[in-house]
Amino acid sequence: MARDIAFIGLGNMGLPMASNLVKAGHTVQGFDVSPAANEAAAKAGIKIASGAAEAVRGAEIVISMLPNGKLVLELYGSGILQAAVPGTLFIDSSTIDVTSARTAHELAATAGMASLDAPVSGGVGGAAAGALTFMAGGETSAFTRARPILELMGQKIVHCGLAGAGQAAKICNNMILGISMIAVSEAFVLGEKLGLSEQALFDVASTSSGQCWSLTTYCPVPGPVPTSPANRDYKPGFAAALMLKDLLLSQEAAASAGADTALGKHAAEIYQNFVSSGHGGMDFSGIIKAIR
Ligand code: NAD
Repeated sequence: MARDIAFIGLGNMGLPMASNLVKAGHTVQGFDVSPAANEAAAKAGIKIASGAAEAVRGAEIVISMLPNGKLVLELYGSGILQAAVPGTLFIDSSTIDVTSARTAHELAATAGMASLDAPVSGGVGGAAAGALTFMAGGETSAFTRARPILELMGQKIVHCGLAGAGQAAKICNNMILGISMIAVSEAFVLGEKLGLSEQALFDVASTSSGQCWSLTTYCPVPGPVPTSPANRDYKPGFAAALMLKDLLLSQEAAASAGADTALGKHAAEIYQNFVSSGHGGMDFSGIIKAIR
């Protein structure tokens, strides 16, 4: 078992992830800039440190789960790399841009630390259930060390390649998701206008070549998939604002890598309009309302 684990960022995802480490018998030292988050974490058995540097002192593994790349780089530049024991493994599970992820790896290596970018999919429900998918980027030695810890929080752990590969996999996957949700929504709206019942379209497309996760798990109309957010007035789930964040990250990456992602670009514009008109807190499948 690893010595202490430090967990920085105890929000919607970080708290249930850290709680699963506590449940597995690890000592977890945590820190969040929000006093309310610290209070909730203390109730879950996480030892709250007075700051990030104190949380990492003596830890064998440091996990961060923050909103964006700027905050991750600020954290890595805040002295925690100097406060940690040399050789400590730093795992950043936030969803951030590939460039910042690679910079974080460089900062860690310069300070004599091992590092991994390991963003997740599966949402808050997956975090609570310990059923996340981790997409990891970094050296094989770092991945091998991280794996037993990641397995306590996730069901599927994939080593995607070197530094930044986890973030690359995450944004490529979510670009597919954003585009496919729009495609499925357009098909339902077209079907409605052609007098086709939603159930009939679902029965055909879910067993035909139009089959995809946006249709069969997250169906954007109520009825065919009783557990999809459409059945609870599009309460997330996965908020449209987070989908927009990931689509914008994909477009930033496409621009810097010189990739032409025309549908990804259009999907980002469609979600931007949806979020700008006040729907950022709605599940991303609510995009069907805008399309309709
Ligand atoms: P959140 O806003 O609930 O939690 C982030 C936490 O980080 C907050 O509690 C905030 O106070 C804290 N924080 C910010 N700066 C900090 C700092 N310098 N030091 C310590 N704490 C700091 O967000 P979340 O939903 O938990 O998402 C975290 C990350 O996971 C994001 O990158 C998000 O894109 C990704 N993600 C979220 C979901 C989801 O469904 N919520 C799914 C997959 C991935």
